[in-house]
Amino acid sequence: MEQAMRDFFLFLSKNKSMTKLAKKYGLRFGASRFVAGETIDKATNVIKELNKQGLCVTIDYLGEFVDNVAEANEMADHSIEAIKAIGREKLDSQLSLKMTSMGLDISDEAVMRNMRRILDAAKENNVFVTIDMEDYSRCQKTLDIFKQLKSEYDNVGTVIQAYLYRTVNDIEDLNQYHPNLRLVKGAYKESPEVAFPEKKDVDENFKKIIKMHLLNGNYTAVATHDDAIIEYTKQLVKEHNIPNDQFEFQMLYGIRTERQLELVKEGYKMRVYVPYGTDWYGYFMRRLAERPANVAFVLKGIFKK
Ligand SMILES: Cc1cc2nc3c(=O)[nH]c(=O)nc-3n(C[C@H](O)[C@H](O)[C@H](O)COP(=O)(O)OP(=O)(O)OC[C@H]3O[C@@H](n4cnc5c(N)ncnc54)[C@H](O)[C@@H]3O)c2cc1C
Repeated sequence: MEQAMRDFFLFLSKNKSMTKLAKKYGLRFGASRFVAGETIDKATNVIKELNKQGLCVTIDYLGEFVDNVAEANEMADHSIEAIKAIGREKLDSQLSLKMTSMGLDISDEAVMRNMRRILDAAKENNVFVTIDMEDYSRCQKTLDIFKQLKSEYDNVGTVIQAYLYRTVNDIEDLNQYHPNLRLVKGAYKESPEVAFPEKKDVDENFKKIIKMHLLNGNYTAVATHDDAIIEYTKQLVKEHNIPNDQFEFQMLYGIRTERQLELVKEGYKMRVYVPYGTDWYGYFMRRLAERPANVAFVLKGIFKK
């Protein structure tokens, strides 16, 4: 039943008509629990509040289904606007983005031009940029572009997903760049030909890559809401005397807020992924797919309006 709900919300997340409708009607159905607002000003206010509580942030301008160069350029402009707001308002925030929003599926020339524009602005404002990892079909291309950009810029990192069989090799291969990586379980529906179908195997692989990347001496962001993985990381760093400034925990805005603050109190660096923008529908559906228990919350939101 839970798997059926998951598949249903992932299916809804890809619906173009719903995406358009959602843009037109604004943040609804309790989405504001997971999305910081539709404008950079609203997101800035949310970040200031989070920073006051000792939480660092990575901000993401939401965008789905970018299908021409003009739209990709516009997405990049929004990311640059966010970078300038971080610099101007002195926010403790990084930037996250998706390569498809920058034109990955449209033109190699467009994606590289947009990424360089963003990384130049980020360098000027002392902002670190993480390239989110999308579905398997884009993984190799995303890593190739990341390697190219990493040879030109210091302020760029990317994401590695524990559910993929290829991941251990990627961690080994990327080690030569000493990259700052965000490690996650993986959020897309992948075939058993490329990804572990069983949760326990994903969890084991997650622990394995956390250990590899940390013991290689690289900066590691452990992005999870899973207490077992958080505990594993705490034990590992203790055992190997890894300093607190070589790693951080990351969680999504609106999820396990109390746990985020507990980790800050315990002295760990805790970064919250804060999405904003009018294109909130697909992101919202993916969060519901991850945890169908959130659906009850959403239904309450619908009936309250
Ligand atoms: C900062 C950040 C960035 C990410 N970036 C990417 C990316 O670039 N690419 C990508 O594919 N994926 C990304 N993800 C998503 C990730 O891959 C997972 O899909 C997502 O984090 C869920 O996995 P989990 O590790 O939290 O564990 P899960 O196995 O989903 O959850 C483990 C346990 O955590 C607890 N938990 C989970 N959610 C909740 C909740 N809502 N309320 C209370 N308890 C809860 C429960 O105890 C649950 O059993 C990102 C996640 C984070 C946090």
